[in-house]
This record gives sequence, structure tokens and C-alpha cells, in this order.
Amino acid sequence: MKKKILSVVLAAVCVLSLAACGSKADSKESKKDTIVMATNAEFPPYEYYEGDKVVGIDAEFAAAIAEKLGMELKIEDMAFDSIIPAVQSGKADFGAAGMTVTDERKSQVDFSDSYYTGRQVIIVKEDNTEITGPDDLTGKKIGVQLGTTGDIYASGDYGDENIERFNKGFEAVQSLGQGKIDAVVIDDQPAKTFVEENEGLKILDTEYVEEDYALCFKKDSDLVDQVNDAIAALKADGTFDKIVEKYIGTETAE
Ligand code: GLN
Repeated sequence: MKKKILSVVLAAVCVLSLAACGSKADSKESKKDTIVMATNAEFPPYEYYEGDKVVGIDAEFAAAIAEKLGMELKIEDMAFDSIIPAVQSGKADFGAAGMTVTDERKSQVDFSDSYYTGRQVIIVKEDNTEITGPDDLTGKKIGVQLGTTGDIYASGDYGDENIERFNKGFEAVQSLGQGKIDAVVIDDQPAKTFVEENEGLKILDTEYVEEDYALCFKKDSDLVDQVNDAIAALKADGTFDKIVEKYIGTETAE
């Protein structure tokens, strides 16, 4: 009798645990895994706010990559110089922020294949005839966004004492408009947007530095290979060009 009760109880336990397992599997299937992107949404047309939503080339490209991986994209907005620490600590799965590949950053994170060519350009006041290219920046007050390659290169070339750092690129451009600094060094596409929004400024034809943008990951992350496959596929099927065209126009994406 005792044996019989025991086997009934055991059977009941088995059925219950199976049911539990079953429902767990179901809920996992219906809910996609989330992939978290760290960015700094102050960088049009790559990432910026439209209402309370982060949009732009990187935001849409990352959403297309996440879809290829069967994952749901979540975007975390933060200061530009917090992106690499967020990726290193695992707070974010990757960073997408018009981020330039540099040797120094390569020692901190892994980069995907490059998906775009960026350029550091120089913005000055429209009536400025003195500064016509990088050589004329010596001894001038140069505004940059903190922790960006504009900051790194300009402080290296022209001396820390001549650099004014701003949290947002747009603030540097505003300061130039107010005549508080002589020039701004910043990426070409945001430069275009900011100059359109501020009267009396121009972008010099002679660019300062050319660079590659890529997504960054925690070192040795398994995601890099998967994301590189997705990038290749989205470039091959024209999705990437379509996204760039939507935000920049017909300029060819590289
Ligand atoms: N391309 C620059 C860098 O990587 C600026 C990026 C940004 O401000 N979002 O430093």
C-alpha cells in the first residue's frame, strides 16, 4: 500500500514538473532575447531624439542587425565616454555611436567590421578668412566633444591648453556661434546638421582626419562574428544603403 501511494505521488510530481518545464519553454519561445545598445543620442544623423524615441542611421542599422539575430533591440542613451565602460561591464551588449576605430579603443573593446567612413571636419564662422585648414588651427581656441576623436586628435596636434571640451557637440557649435571659441572639430555629418541649425557658420573644405566607424563589444564577445555576418548581409541586400539614404540622402555609403 505504502509503495502504491509513493508511486502515485512520484507520478504526480513528474507530471507537475513536466508541465512546469513545458510552460517555461513556451514563454521563452514567445519572448525574444533582448540585445542592449549603448549610444549617445546627441549625434545626428546617426543617433538623436525624435520625440522620446532614439532614431538615426545607427539606431535603424542596429535594429536591422538585431532582427537578423532574432533579438529585440533596446537602446540605452548615455554620455559618449560612458559607452565603452558600459560595454566592458556588460551593462550593454554593444556600442553604436558613430564610433571611430582607434588603437587605444581596440585595447579596451573589440570592434565589428567597419560600416562607414567618417571624417573630422573644421567648422568656423562664415566670415572667418584666417582659418582655411588644419594648419591654421595652431594657437586657436578649438571646441570639441569630450572623449571623441576630435578631442583626441586636436589635443594631440594643438595642445591641451587650446582645447575647450563640451559634453555635446552641439554645445561646441553654439559656443562658436557666440564667438567664444575660434573653431570646432567634429564628425562631418553632425557638422552639417549643426551648421544648418546655426546661422553664420561654415565647414572648411579641407578635412582634418578620415576614419572608420564600427560597433564595439566587450573583448572576446561571441556576438562580434554574428554581427559581422549580419552587417555583410545588410550591406549586400541594400538595407544599409537604404537607411543611409533615408537620413543623409543619396551620398554613397562606404
Ligand atoms: N567619431 C567620433 C568618435 O568616435 C565621435 C563619435 C560621437 O561623438 N558619437 O570619437
